[in-house]
Amino acid sequence: MSFPSSHRRARLRTLDLPRSLLLLLYIFALLQPTRQASVFGERSLSTLSSDAISHLVSTPDPVKNVDPANSASHLSKILIPRPPDTENNTIVRTYIVSTLKALKWDVEEDNFIGETPYGSKNFTNVIATKDASASRRVILAAHFDSKFFATYPQNQFVGATDSAAPCAMMLDLAEALDPLLNQRKQRLEDGLEDDEDVADTTLQLVFFDGEEAFRDWTATDSVYGARHLAERWSTTYISPHTKRRLLRPSETEISTVEHLILLDLLGAPHPLIRSAFLDTAWLFDAMVSVERRLFDNGAFVYGNDQASSLTSFFLARHKGDGNYGYIEDDHVPFLRKGVSVLHIIASPFPRVWHTLGDDASALDIPTMRRWNLILRVFMSEYLALQPETKASRSDDQSSFESHRPVAHSELSLT
Ligand SMILES: [Zn+2]
Repeated sequence: MSFPSSHRRARLRTLDLPRSLLLLLYIFALLQPTRQASVFGERSLSTLSSDAISHLVSTPDPVKNVDPANSASHLSKILIPRPPDTENNTIVRTYIVSTLKALKWDVEEDNFIGETPYGSKNFTNVIATKDASASRRVILAAHFDSKFFATYPQNQFVGATDSAAPCAMMLDLAEALDPLLNQRKQRLEDGLEDDEDVADTTLQLVFFDGEEAFRDWTATDSVYGARHLAERWSTTYISPHTKRRLLRPSETEISTVEHLILLDLLGAPHPLIRSAFLDTAWLFDAMVSVERRLFDNGAFVYGNDQASSLTSFFLARHKGDGNYGYIEDDHVPFLRKGVSVLHIIASPFPRVWHTLGDDASALDIPTMRRWNLILRVFMSEYLALQPETKASRSDDQSSFESHRPVAHSELSLT
């Protein structure tokens, strides 16, 4: 898979520029064409019934894992300063690893040494796979490190949106989908899955270390973990003696990635997410559709949030939209190796970005709750999971209303 050399990109993350200039650069970036190649194209996704959606909305409680007021929540365990190669970084990594090992996921700690402006540093990505014997996987990812600052008080930076909250959402998703993934595996083994290809795609969570630049964002001072992992996976051939099913000969690890879905800068109220890549525009539209159906189901009614109309997290696409420019992040090393990417990042960035204000006070519980619900339903439909429904409880009927493709015209044209 080749990548066009004329490819242009926008690097917006760490330019030390006024916001107005950032916005101008962003608009400029929108005009730049980008392209990506993938062997896994558009396919139809299942559509969950409103009954199945209701089950996912309530089980497990979609707030407890992202509640900063609860010191036992996943979020609270992550919400400490955690730059790479520090004791706190290890504490957070150990927490993520033990949470996923408790669910009996296959957990790998990908340790390496990288050269930074402050000398050699130890980095460790965490890769958690539900079913290591599956032939393919869809990756949900975020970075768990927080940005390094040399002096007090900036070194107390906890990166609540960047990216503690997305990491907590990923752990919430693992907990919510784990029993459904077990049931799907049982159906596959019992020969009850009509689409074995989809049923053999597993969920993998990647927690990147070293996303942040130590000084200024450059090609060599940023995305340390992602660069290491993309390189390693693209040069690792899967042995024919592997226990993995349905593999063609000489496949690399990276070629078995269907999509990389990267979360960043989420958890603050009123995010705006844009579709960055044409080849995953259909996935973007599917996520927009999930949000709409959750709203129609009354799932976003929470606390004082009784909105009678939906203010979407997503910027609707329009017919004839080209590729947008993209914001540099952990996906770039994978994109360059042909991986198909869905980048879920708030742009404009949260106003507290890279300031001490990016702490628990920047987070909004109804917003994080909505993200948890969107991810639960979206990944369930992607992976053809079947949440329990009243019908399945009473007479074991399928929880699917239909198997129809998501029609873009229904989703994106306004
Ligand atoms: Zn950051």
